[in-house]
Amino acid sequence: MIPFNKPHLTGKETHYMYEAVSKGKLSGNGDFTKQCQSFFETKYGFKKCLLTTSCTDALEMAAILCDLQPGDEVIVPSYTFVSSALAFVRVGAKIVFADSMRRNPNIDASLIESLITPRTKVIVPVHYAGVACDMDAIMDIADRHGLLVVEDAAQAIDSYYKGRPLGSIGHLAAFSFHETKNVIAGEGGMLAINDPRFIRRAEIIWEKGTNRAEFFRGEVNKYGWVDTGSSFLPSEVVAAFLWAQLENLDDIQSKRKALWNRYYENLKDVAEVAAPFAEKALSERSEFDFSRTEGATSDKTFQLPDIPDYATNNAHMFYLVCNNLEQRTALISRLKENGASAVFHYLSLHSSPFYAPKHDGRELPGCDRYADCLVRLPLYYELTFDDVDRICEILKETIQSES
Ligand SMILES: *Cc1c(COP(=O)(O)O)cnc(C)c1O
Repeated sequence: MIPFNKPHLTGKETHYMYEAVSKGKLSGNGDFTKQCQSFFETKYGFKKCLLTTSCTDALEMAAILCDLQPGDEVIVPSYTFVSSALAFVRVGAKIVFADSMRRNPNIDASLIESLITPRTKVIVPVHYAGVACDMDAIMDIADRHGLLVVEDAAQAIDSYYKGRPLGSIGHLAAFSFHETKNVIAGEGGMLAINDPRFIRRAEIIWEKGTNRAEFFRGEVNKYGWVDTGSSFLPSEVVAAFLWAQLENLDDIQSKRKALWNRYYENLKDVAEVAAPFAEKALSERSEFDFSRTEGATSDKTFQLPDIPDYATNNAHMFYLVCNNLEQRTALISRLKENGASAVFHYLSLHSSPFYAPKHDGRELPGCDRYADCLVRLPLYYELTFDDVDRICEILKETIQSES
């Protein structure tokens, strides 16, 4: 069976973990933590980075830093992981869910302004599959309305928007090193702080509400409890593991991109019916009109991942968008029968058991479409071109046998 995901080890993880252990400094904010943080600050120009125990924790830190009052509103796409919204719910915010674009699952920036009220404080763009949201449009709206932008860059390591690294554009950004992401630490994450106003307070929140970091830099002569916070920092063992991954970032990325391109090359001919249709949908149709009456010569094919001109591809994910739930279910079971595991992704958060009773009732057809129709194919370092070719053959046979 070709699994959906397999965590990749570079080989040096246990070596660095052993080194961390033998240094006798196991708690957080030691040498490996600092080494990882400066790697990101140097490579991507984030003003300040703080490793966290998860991306969820980094988002929680961001939510605290936004200083929200109960009832303040945060605009979040509905097609995303729970944490993008949950972190803000925990500080008392009301989530206003936004719809996805027709061309890809990212938040539709053209709809954001209609969701803004006097209580809106934050916009949370999620770079789905590591593909950039339209950040110029989002930052422009935020500037005009005095809002903060927190990028959920969990999937977006080493990806760019018009040449700018994702995670460097919003005021704050959160990354994940969960074992399902490109670069892993088991569980792990990072807060990137781009607006220097937040740096001092972020360090305090990170260290249980104390000014311990300033004390260790010799800036104050004793440290104490000065703010809210939690224990958001990971142990040195986790940072040591992450360091082994970061040393091999370029290798990891080029391998994943080669596999991604292999899928795309293999499938672009059978999917070409859908691609021009998607373009047509963008230019001539309302974003809400998902009926497929014209332009499609076959409804058995699927849409390939969309990388807008302003975005790069970090090969976090290779997904297909089917035409309906039945087609997706059939495709997943056909792959399974033939020894490959493909999986669907998010259920729309606005209709989740937890949030549906609090949601304002607006329909979000774009999100629901991806919830029903998107399927992710295996993509991990050890996957081979042969595996990819085999998966693509099965997909092609599925299309041909049904049409
Ligand atoms: C993986 C992911 C998260 C959560 O990351 P953790 O490190 O597991 O907390 C949040 N948002 C998105 C979009 C993700 O893909």
